[in-house]
Amino acid sequence: MVLQRVFRAVIMGPPGSGKGTMSARISKTFGLKHISSGDILRANIKDQTELGLLMKSSIDRGQLVPDDVMSRLMLSDLRALDHSSWLIDGFPRTVSQAEALDDAFTVDTVINLNVPFQTIKQRLSSRWTHLSSGRVYNVDFNPPKVPGLDDVTGETLVQREDDTPETVTRRLKAYQNQTEPVLEFYRSKGVLEIFSGTETNKIWPHVEAFLRRKVSPVEQTAA
Ligand code: AMP
Repeated sequence: MVLQRVFRAVIMGPPGSGKGTMSARISKTFGLKHISSGDILRANIKDQTELGLLMKSSIDRGQLVPDDVMSRLMLSDLRALDHSSWLIDGFPRTVSQAEALDDAFTVDTVINLNVPFQTIKQRLSSRWTHLSSGRVYNVDFNPPKVPGLDDVTGETLVQREDDTPETVTRRLKAYQNQTEPVLEFYRSKGVLEIFSGTETNKIWPHVEAFLRRKVSPVEQTAA
């Protein structure tokens, strides 16, 4: 069984709410292409592209990249995907970005992970990332098999420069001021679906059941 028609979704939630982990599960189970704005920006920084060099200091400080830059970057990547089904994570983060996306594509569903800020602050300080893939680990509840190394590639894990406590506070403020209004934007369009909880593992079955009613799971050929 494969997807019968194009299905386009956005996953939202504060930084550290588990969007990356949840997106990986969704894309694996339902065959949606996962596009993360943060991963795209970090890849640009790692490759020292002009855009990466220009945006690095704002990103390290926890500030949002300007809307026009971000919308252009994401929309050109999405257009290149042509008729694929996708799940975007980290975009749109402002109403202006949501409008730009809305002008170009119809979003079928917006999944919002509603995780308390207190949980997030604790979680981000123990988060380690494999930069080139975007895989994340948490030393408390999802540690790598070998401390400090990525399970798949064996490469070194790093702590993101924007996961320091002051920067986390700034990112949460940016989320409240600039991104929460995006939830209203999607609520008014009737596509917002809210999932509340403190642990990805507990939220996942609800997200999976919801999506199963909307899209077909990909055929597990390797099983
Ligand atoms: P994330 O990995 O999604 O938390 O993104 C890391 C950082 O990249 C954010 O703190 C912002 O500085 C920047 N960023 C990611 N997505 C966006 C976006 N849609 N608009 C503006 N800045 C973004």
